[in-house]
Amino acid sequence: MQGASSSSQHGCAAPLRPDAALLFTDIVLKRNRAHEQMGSRLSLSDKDHVHAHAAASLASLIKYRLKPTAGSLLAYLEDADLLHAVTDADTAIDNGFRFAGAFEVAAVVLQLGEAHAQDVRGGARFGKYKQLWRAYDVRQRILEKMRHAPSRYTCAEPSCGFRSLKAHQFRRCAGPCSPEVKPGYCSKACQRKDWARHKAVLPQHNHSNCGHTHAEVRNH
Ligand SMILES: [Zn+2]
Ligand SMILES: [Zn+2]
Repeated sequence: MQGASSSSQHGCAAPLRPDAALLFTDIVLKRNRAHEQMGSRLSLSDKDHVHAHAAASLASLIKYRLKPTAGSLLAYLEDADLLHAVTDADTAIDNGFRFAGAFEVAAVVLQLGEAHAQDVRGGARFGKYKQLWRAYDVRQRILEKMRHAPSRYTCAEPSCGFRSLKAHQFRRCAGPCSPEVKPGYCSKACQRKDWARHKAVLPQHNHSNCGHTHAEVRNH
């Protein structure tokens, strides 16, 4: 990699300051441990509780990654931070918080296991964290679907940019446009905004013969 001078180029010195990252993660972990110990007295809200687990999971992943042993079989078998990253991610997911970082934790462990021919999901060390593996599998299936049909998961209004993994969140044009070009929108507002564009790409759907406007057709 380049020297310290590259930091000004990218405008961010974080990758060059692992000590700062470690300090930050230690603060997160200490707070989390304090929360765990005082949990009953603090009456932590459910939301704060799962967020604390998610933050602790990511902090542990950072600590693991900064070690020279990261990626080794020994790390797979014995690294406490890697194990914490998994247990906290699993707990957060088990309590309903499927945060994006959990999938990174899962991917890191699965890749590490694969690299050293370890049975991650069936093994003694990581096998019991079923919630994490289940959530990861669901996520992978959705991402696979997204790769095949990206338009199903992105608002069709070009300036909107809204994306969601939940295809049912989008309002599909109910008009007679063909399935390959049928747009989906995040909202009625976006559908209205995109109407002129959508109409223009569908000259065959002007309903000049049947008397319907496409606006009527799309709303039935
Ligand atoms: Zn249409
Ligand atoms: Zn939109």
